[in-house]
Amino acid sequence: MLRNAYMTDELEAIYDQTVEFVSKEVTPHGEAWEQAGKVPRDVLTKMGELGMLSLRVPQEHGGLGLGMLASAAFSEGLGASTFAGFDVTVLVHTDMAGPHLLNSGSPEQLAKYVPGMISGELITAIAVSEPDAGSDVAGIRSTAVKDGDGWRINGRKMFITNSVYGNLTIVAARTDPENKYGISMFLVPPDTEGFSVANKLDKHGWLCSDTGELVLDDVWVSDDQLLGTPHRGFYETMKNFQNERMVLVGMGVGSAQAAIDMTNAYTQERKAFGGHLYDLGAIRQRMAMNQAKVDAVRASMYHAAWIHDQGGDNVKEMSGVKAWGCEVVNQVMYDCVQFHGGMGYMRESAIERMARDARILPIGGGATEVMLEEVAKRSIIS
Ligand SMILES: Cc1cc2nc3c(=O)[nH]c(=O)nc-3n(C[C@H](O)[C@H](O)[C@H](O)COP(=O)(O)OP(=O)(O)OC[C@H]3O[C@@H](n4cnc5c(N)ncnc54)[C@H](O)[C@@H]3O)c2cc1C
Repeated sequence: MLRNAYMTDELEAIYDQTVEFVSKEVTPHGEAWEQAGKVPRDVLTKMGELGMLSLRVPQEHGGLGLGMLASAAFSEGLGASTFAGFDVTVLVHTDMAGPHLLNSGSPEQLAKYVPGMISGELITAIAVSEPDAGSDVAGIRSTAVKDGDGWRINGRKMFITNSVYGNLTIVAARTDPENKYGISMFLVPPDTEGFSVANKLDKHGWLCSDTGELVLDDVWVSDDQLLGTPHRGFYETMKNFQNERMVLVGMGVGSAQAAIDMTNAYTQERKAFGGHLYDLGAIRQRMAMNQAKVDAVRASMYHAAWIHDQGGDNVKEMSGVKAWGCEVVNQVMYDCVQFHGGMGYMRESAIERMARDARILPIGGGATEVMLEEVAKRSIIS
């Protein structure tokens, strides 16, 4: 039986393959990767060999050319790993940075970079956020000025996933000082002169994901490293916003489901008051409510993805599920830590890590308040 009304046999196979992959190749090793602060590159190339990095890549460029529902199934499957730092390493590449290149790349850029993106030998990052501008994308201060046959970029980027160990960073910089939205995107390989990682950031969660603070000090890139139309980068970036939002919800739903399953198992084993913790109404009912909420978030997420794949505008639906769903995931994690008792507070328990990992979901990729404004704007009756 298919898992929900939006699934097809193909999407079901993607979900199953992803869950199987993470259970064999990720979950057993994730703790060591957390300690090392890095996802080994060979696990990414293994995913490449299995075709897992090319779901959204158009068929003419060697991918499967699937839609947003495929990313929903993939991100939810990754969430089952319980290592969100791993999940985000993959999803930034496949669903946040990669799509910019696929949407806006010239034939030469696509020929140069897409084969490596598919194989996992080339891992991408997207650098928009800065020390003084995160939610307010139009407020970025990095600049790129025309210089000969190329552009000279100066500025700083903050909190950039995959920028420490990745192979290609897509950098947003202001190119039209007269226009608030006059931003362009540039393809910057890590060995470019003047481009450096100032700091590998130490985080609350997502410990195996590499997050960098970047410096662009008189970085010169040639015209053929400009991605898309000059000064239109803001609008081109926006094209992928709903997808970015969705995969964060997807990985959150996958991990919340794993947290519920592990908490139900734990409380059904744990003896107390002459029975098991799960026999206590306060616990079993709260966990049942958590399950109902996660089921509802999952259904809303697939629905929003389906609207997109039908050619519709899903900004209201996807922003809503990003806001609400990421908060639900955190409520679920809170309860799951609670019902693990003292063990839930121990570094050795998976739920302790999962709760830390979930905290970023309502902040990154569009904070809850920003998402709610997107819904509110579209709810004005006039
Ligand atoms: C681990 C991690 C990985 C990240 N990876 C990337 C990446 O790969 N690439 C990238 O470009 N960025 C990345 N980011 C940045 C992330 O997208 C930003 O942190 C996020 O957009 C919020 O921006 P900010 O941190 O500047 O917070 P601010 O914009 O300063 O906002 C702070 C808080 O104020 C509230 N707020 C903001 N705007 C509004 C509003 N309009 N109305 C009401 N309340 C509001 C929200 O609660 C928000 O959390 C990452 C961040 C982290 C922590």
